[in-house]
Amino acid sequence: MIWEGSPSGNFSVSTELEGPRQKQNVSLVSQFIWSPALPTKISFFAWRLVRRWVPLDVQLQRKGVHLGSMCSCCGGARETVEHLFVTGPVAVSVWGHFGQQFGISWRGAPGVSSLLVGWFLSHRMVKANHIRVLVPMAALWFIWRSRNQARFEGSRMRADHIIWEVGNLMEFLGEAQKLGRSFQGDEDCIWARGRRRVGVCRQSMLVAWSRPPAQGLKLNTDASVTSLGAFGGGVARSSEGRVIFAFYKEFGDVSVLHAAALALLSGLVYCLDRAISGVRAESDSAALVRMLASGAPASWPLCNVLRKIRFLLQELGGSLGHVIDDEHDLRINPSQEDRNNAGDHDEEVVQV
Ligand SMILES: [Zn+2]
Repeated sequence: MIWEGSPSGNFSVSTELEGPRQKQNVSLVSQFIWSPALPTKISFFAWRLVRRWVPLDVQLQRKGVHLGSMCSCCGGARETVEHLFVTGPVAVSVWGHFGQQFGISWRGAPGVSSLLVGWFLSHRMVKANHIRVLVPMAALWFIWRSRNQARFEGSRMRADHIIWEVGNLMEFLGEAQKLGRSFQGDEDCIWARGRRRVGVCRQSMLVAWSRPPAQGLKLNTDASVTSLGAFGGGVARSSEGRVIFAFYKEFGDVSVLHAAALALLSGLVYCLDRAISGVRAESDSAALVRMLASGAPASWPLCNVLRKIRFLLQELGGSLGHVIDDEHDLRINPSQEDRNNAGDHDEEVVQV
């Protein structure tokens, strides 16, 4: 074994052990981070982070760039990988929240690799696509995103917003059918409840359609994300059920939520082009409808799409609702199990 040296030049047993220990962690992390459920950019970011190839202040200083360092999470510390992602106040709140959710009280060395390994080894059923892999990876990604927004757009890093973003991503992965076997040993997880049966969306099913008021028009939009990209479409019908227009669009490499928003926006633009007012729009993305109704902040470029949707709904004098499928309702409310019209949809109206 060769001692690589410490920054101070002094030999200690801990610095000698650090090298092989880190490498072991990195190789274990590498087995899990390339999860097919996660967007590649998140896996790639984690891969760079454990190798410290992320341009934080201290990393840039080590490369000879002369700059001062002030952490974006608290303004009172040097911006290091450990501080920003593990031990800083925002990171501590984020890990505390998810640690409590999964019963993980991690007390390892203050490094990203050790933290990830702590999560990956926290349950014997953890595999590459497990929720205990996806959550810490997503948390690291959204801490990084929040740091960049704070650094370059003047916003403030907020743990509650990062936690919300992670939860949103898990919901969307569930909607995209990517969490099939992610909850082994964690069946009581909140995101497991919203999971649909694998393959359901590939089967055709009857959907009840309720008429808009007389002379009114209803716009239904939907979107999906596959390995080929994001797609969406919609159909507008009169109160007699006559098709006014229908459309299909490809959206490239965007998230499920973004695709759902783009599908809705496209439909509203078609309405505007045809001078159709008073439209009643419906989306099956509960998260999208919630975001539009609550005015919750969204990251760029999704925030622009949401702003345009709100503007067009106002211009068109329209309203937005959420279509809930009964399969989801039955899981939440077992007393309705007798109902066997699983294809029917109920409406939930949300004021936007
Ligand atoms: Zn800080």
